[in-house]
Amino acid sequence: MAAPASNGATAEWTPDSWRSKPIKQAPDYPDKAAVKKAVSELKRLPPIVHPREIVKLKQHLRDVARGEAFLLQGGDCAELFDYCEQNAIESKIKLLLQMSLVLIWGADKRVVRIGRMAGQYAKPRSSPMETVDGKQVPSFRGDILNGFHLDERELDPKRLVQAYHFSAATLNYIRAAIASGIADLHHPLDWDLGHVKDPAVKDKYFQAVSFLTESLRFMHTIGADKTDKIHTVDLFTSHEGLLLEYEESLTRLLDNPTHPPSSSIHSNPKEYYNTSAHFLWIGDRTRQIDHAHVEFFRGIANPIGIKVGPTTPVDDLLALLRTLNPSREEGKITLITRYGAGKVASLLPAHIRAVEDSEYARTVVWQCDPMHGNTQSVSGGIKTRRFGDIFSELQQTLRIHKEQGSYLGGVHLELTGDAVTECLGGSENLDEDDLSTNYTSFCDPRLNEKQALELAFLVADHYRS
Ligand code: PEP
Ligand code: MN
Repeated sequence: MAAPASNGATAEWTPDSWRSKPIKQAPDYPDKAAVKKAVSELKRLPPIVHPREIVKLKQHLRDVARGEAFLLQGGDCAELFDYCEQNAIESKIKLLLQMSLVLIWGADKRVVRIGRMAGQYAKPRSSPMETVDGKQVPSFRGDILNGFHLDERELDPKRLVQAYHFSAATLNYIRAAIASGIADLHHPLDWDLGHVKDPAVKDKYFQAVSFLTESLRFMHTIGADKTDKIHTVDLFTSHEGLLLEYEESLTRLLDNPTHPPSSSIHSNPKEYYNTSAHFLWIGDRTRQIDHAHVEFFRGIANPIGIKVGPTTPVDDLLALLRTLNPSREEGKITLITRYGAGKVASLLPAHIRAVEDSEYARTVVWQCDPMHGNTQSVSGGIKTRRFGDIFSELQQTLRIHKEQGSYLGGVHLELTGDAVTECLGGSENLDEDDLSTNYTSFCDPRLNEKQALELAFLVADHYRS
């Protein structure tokens, strides 16, 4: 396949053309033969997701780019192999479903759901080494590379193949749970609001919940819930495409489901699909235009995300769009903005103008990640985020898009269905002393189920007021 290079020339793309470029965050495996063995094992395993599903998500994201739908993306910062377990998977699916109902009520739009699940195993780190108990040890880089426990910190290529199996098992259970009605709206949902202390906020929640439960009862009464639509939902998967040995192994040249048999106009009969997930994104640390990650991403047909933050020059943004989406496909690129509550107002407007005043106007999905610009350390070096900062960045982002005449199409959150105490604030008003109660993240702090739902209500409220 030929694709335009960033310098305007046309360079040949192959699933391994990234290997000739400079690369950030790449593992230096001591045992190269074991990596080769793992990669050849991965190459003969079947795709984890199907091109038809990838294309379906792309169509949904086109609707988001057009302002006709809203994108909810969420899950763990670092998914562990241990999270491949019934309850952990179910609680995350239910939370995403419940949040999406609230968003549908608020925004009056369809909601597209993507989990940071079934493959979010590789983490970029600020340093390859860290100090633990006074000793220098390799940093934990995610379960696909090494283990969190100190005796598992060496890079282990066998984890590449393990990641495939945990990813496939997780997605298998997601599909089974959804096909068996986990998202069936006839099941009573747990809308317990006992934790909400502010009477005004509580009152708003009650209004929303009674509206949702009444609507569902009404649909049942008139038989409008007899279609398949209410029994099932779509949930797509995503992860950061960081470990390119893994991503390359699952990238396959496959039939393009949208290619009409008798025509070759505007579509290729075959495309390279990265079948490790429906949606992949390029992280904040690996989006250098002439580097390996951008090279790899420019050749895959999946919808892709780009993290955009305080270190993204305005010119880079357009160069990235031209390299990654030369045909200006609507919804192909999601710009995941993450500046921090204190910076968003000064940086987002220029990024919006650069895109919306260019030939890429109305082609991207603008998504707000209010988590990654708001991480801070509190006493004892514990990483946390304040609910107030998270909400503030989201609220400012909503307002700025409105002022600029663009559409904020989605949110990208780190969350878990469990009652963790990792982010401060929210209606339970967690403070620093509460953090130790149930802090289980091995990477960034996540919203717990109550904080996540509360955020969905606050976004819904923005649309309704
Ligand atoms: C992440 O999404 O977990 C992450 C590392 O984000 P970013 O690349 O935006 O820092
Ligand atoms: Mn994170």
